[in-house]
Amino acid sequence: MSTATTLGSRDAKLPDELDLLIIGGGVMGLSIAYNLARNHPGAVKRVAIVERSYLVSGASGRNGGGLRMQWGDAGNVALMRESIELCRHLAQELNINLWFRQGGYLFLARTESGERRLHRNVAVHEQVGVPTRLLAAREALELVPQLDVSEVRVAAYNPEDGVVFPWPFVWGYAAQAAARGVVIRTHTSVDALEPQPDGGYQARLSTGERLRAARVINATGAWSVGINRGLGIELPNHPHRHEILSSEPLKPFLDPLVVDLETGLYFSQSTRGEIVTGITLPDPPGLVPSHQVELGSSLRFLSNVARALIRVMPIAKHLEPLRQWSGPYDMSPDGDAMVGPSPDHPQLIQVCGFTGHGFMMAPAVGRMVARWLATGESHAMLQRWDPCRFRDGRMLRREDMIIG
Ligand SMILES: Cc1cc2nc3c(=O)[nH]c(=O)nc-3n(C[C@H](O)[C@H](O)[C@H](O)COP(=O)(O)OP(=O)(O)OC[C@H]3O[C@@H](n4cnc5c(N)ncnc54)[C@H](O)[C@@H]3O)c2cc1C
Repeated sequence: MSTATTLGSRDAKLPDELDLLIIGGGVMGLSIAYNLARNHPGAVKRVAIVERSYLVSGASGRNGGGLRMQWGDAGNVALMRESIELCRHLAQELNINLWFRQGGYLFLARTESGERRLHRNVAVHEQVGVPTRLLAAREALELVPQLDVSEVRVAAYNPEDGVVFPWPFVWGYAAQAAARGVVIRTHTSVDALEPQPDGGYQARLSTGERLRAARVINATGAWSVGINRGLGIELPNHPHRHEILSSEPLKPFLDPLVVDLETGLYFSQSTRGEIVTGITLPDPPGLVPSHQVELGSSLRFLSNVARALIRVMPIAKHLEPLRQWSGPYDMSPDGDAMVGPSPDHPQLIQVCGFTGHGFMMAPAVGRMVARWLATGESHAMLQRWDPCRFRDGRMLRREDMIIG
């Protein structure tokens, strides 16, 4: 099979009738398609992904590749333990180097409330069976001697967390899904969905083609609002521009991905030696959350991330940034994703709202959603992520370990 076909193609022939149309060729759509084709062959027969641009054009090709089990909520901790376990075997399964490296995540707390959060989280991790441990400042310094720990009250470290390089991850899912019969059409947008009397949809494509699909997955991340609005579905997610940069490559010195809890600064060293760093930056005051995805890079980000990074790791003042870019977070008001049938549209399945952690969750989410589609078997997280919870007033406690 040619590379053009395995990574999708603008010429891929789409059947007129589908059992499942997946809109969006990011990591979520691809992981679901791959898991469905691999784990449940024949259960859902005619499956196609339609992607507006190229496969890593969305958040899935623009993220930091961080994978962690360190969450505040036991459901997220267990899910991420499963996802990282899947990642251990994924390179072999997908037959592609994912640059998966388990160097751990090191969270630093500099305030009393941060310290309380880490203590509480470590107790939750212990219950789930995740080996996070609390470290004194001097122990954190032993792990990363370049840190300034003079303000650090406590740190939390899980050696099993890690990082991957996002692009081969996406390409691997695509190639393996295509090899199992999933059609991947790129550079084609789904412009509208029209409900059909049998409960399915007719999709109108930017090429003028029309497709009928019994079920549709909206895996368009920060763009999901567009598909939903066309059907009158109101969900409260909205896009947020998140910026990130990578430096010139340096000799490897940094094992864990380090997070400064108070500023939301994170940084890691890629397998290629670059320091990859980002920070939580709220939208500028007065900006009304818009439904338009806005990309671009700002000096505001560069100065904020540089100041925060040098404070935590003073040698960073010598660091030369090489590339700066941004991508869209798909923000959900309670920090939980939206996965499942849409309000009043049971055959339109949302898989969106993953904020800044959809990449790491995709292996487990793809497996769980594929199982549910093929067998009807649910999962505690699917109940929790029910997109109808906003309409029904069942919003959940906000996860307090959302970074970035
Ligand atoms: C800078 C940055 C850093 C991040 N860091 C991390 C991290 O370290 N770890 C982590 O786990 N997560 C991280 N994330 C979040 C993570 O990248 C996302 O949660 C995840 O990639 C979402 O995947 P997705 O498939 O849902 O969306 P996307 O990858 O955005 O895919 C959606 C796709 O839908 C397509 N599309 C949109 N509209 C249409 C249409 N009408 N028709 C057809 N196709 C359409 C888009 O072109 C796009 O390719 C980060 C995000 C950013 C921006």
